[in-house]
Amino acid sequence: MFRIRNLVDQHRTDLAAHLTAEHGKVPSDALGEIARGLENLEFAAGIPHLLKGGFSEQVSGGVDVYQIRQPLGVVAGITPFNFPAMVPMWMFANAIACGNTFILKPSEKDPSASLYIAELLAEAGVPDGVFNVVQGDRVAVDRILEHPDIRAVSFVGSTPIARHIYETGTKNGKRVQALGGAKNHMVVLPDADIDMAADAAVSAAYGSAGERCMAISVVVAVGDIADPLVEAIRSRLPKITVGPGSDPTAQMGPLVTREHRDKVASYLDKGREQGATVIVDGREHQSYASAGFFLGPSLIDNVTPDMDSYCNEIFGPVLEVVRVPTYTEAVGLVNDNPYGNGTAIFTRDGGAARAFQFEVETGMVGVNVPIPVPVAYYSFGGWKSSLFGDIHMYGPEGIQFYTRAKVVTSRWPDPGTSKVDLGFPRTR
Ligand code: NAD
Repeated sequence: MFRIRNLVDQHRTDLAAHLTAEHGKVPSDALGEIARGLENLEFAAGIPHLLKGGFSEQVSGGVDVYQIRQPLGVVAGITPFNFPAMVPMWMFANAIACGNTFILKPSEKDPSASLYIAELLAEAGVPDGVFNVVQGDRVAVDRILEHPDIRAVSFVGSTPIARHIYETGTKNGKRVQALGGAKNHMVVLPDADIDMAADAAVSAAYGSAGERCMAISVVVAVGDIADPLVEAIRSRLPKITVGPGSDPTAQMGPLVTREHRDKVASYLDKGREQGATVIVDGREHQSYASAGFFLGPSLIDNVTPDMDSYCNEIFGPVLEVVRVPTYTEAVGLVNDNPYGNGTAIFTRDGGAARAFQFEVETGMVGVNVPIPVPVAYYSFGGWKSSLFGDIHMYGPEGIQFYTRAKVVTSRWPDPGTSKVDLGFPRTR
C-alpha cells in the first residue's frame, strides 16, 4: 500500500493529464481529485490497525472471546464519469488492503485513468489478478451483478442506476453500497458574511463545471439577505474563465458530452417558462459558440420547489436560488428534497448552526464549509435517494463493507480440570 501510494503521488501530473484529456476538467481540478484519492491510499496503509478486532479475556473460566475480520473474496466497483481517479481510490484502497481482489468497471466516458492506475499498481508489485479493470457499459455491469463469484459491489453514479444496482445486486445475494445523485442546498442565514457566502457558493457551484455530486446546486437565501447575496454571486460570474484544460488560465472546463451540455442548458428554458428569473444564461458566454461542449456559469433566481430545474439533478454549472422567509422553512426545504447527500449552512450564529446539524436530513453537513466531503478517516455517504444500502463509502465503514466479522470463543483447558458437562454454556 505504501508503494502504491508513492507511485500515485509521483505520477499525479501524468494521471491528471489523462483526466483532462478525456473528462475535460482543468488541471487544478484533476490534481485536486487525485489529492483526495491519495488520502484513501494513506488511510488504507494503516490497515493493521484498522483490522484489529475486539478481545475479551476470561469471559468464563478459561474462556476468551475475540473478533476477527476476514475479506469477502472478489469485489467489484462501478464508477461514474466525473471522478475517474478519486472514486476508484475510494473503493480499491480499502478493498485490496482488506485482502480482497477488486474488479473496476469505470465509466465508458473516460476509461483511460483506470488503465493507468492499473499499470501503477502492477509496478508497485500488486500480484496479477488482484486489481482488474473491465471496460464497458451496462452489459458489463449486468454481468458483474449476476456473477456468482462476486461477493460485493460498490457503486457511485446517478440515482436511477444506483437503485437498479442495489436491487439487482442484493437480489443476487451480494453486499451492495450504491451512492446516487444529489441536490445540495447551501442555506445562507441573514447574519452571514455576504462576501464569504458568495465566494463559497460560486466556488462550490461552478468548480468542475458543476459536475460534482457534492456541488452546491441550490442557494437557500433566508430573509433579507437574498437581494445582496444574489448580486454578490452575479458580480463574480464574469470573472470565471471558461476554457479547455489545455489553457492554463481556464478555471472551468467543458461538460462531459454535447448531449449532457444541452440537457443542462434546457433547464434554463424550463426555469424561465415556469416563472423563475434567469439572471445569467451560460449560453450567452462566448465559449458556448465554440467547438467544445462549453456552457458558461448560469444563475437562476426565484426558483420554487415545483419547478423542473429544482426537482431534477442538473449536474452542470447552473446555480439556483430559492428565497425563503425563515430558517425553519429553509430546513424544511432541504428535508423535503428526495436527495440527502450534502448540505451547508452559512451563518455567524453558533446556535443556529448547531440546530441545523441536528435537524437536517443529509449524510454530510458543512458549517461555513460549502463542500463537506469527509476526510478519508471518516466515511462518505448521503441519506435518502443519495445512497442505497446501509454502509457508507471509504474510511471505517469501508473496512466494514469489505470484510466479514467472525467471533471466536476459545478455551485452552487445563487437562487437570477437564470433565463432561451437558449443562447450557453460561458465564455465571
Ligand atoms: P451513471 O449512473 O450514468 O453511470 C455510473 C456508472 O453506471 C457507469 O460506470 C456506467 O457505465 C454505469 N451505467 C450507466 N447506465 C447503466 C445502466 N443502465 N445499467 C447499468 N449500469 C449503467 O452516472 P454518471 O453520469 O457517470 O455520473 C454522474 C452521476 O453520478 C450524478 O448523478 C452524480 O450525482 C453521481 N455521483 C454521485 C456521487 C456520490 O458520491 N453520491 C459521486 C459522484 C457522482
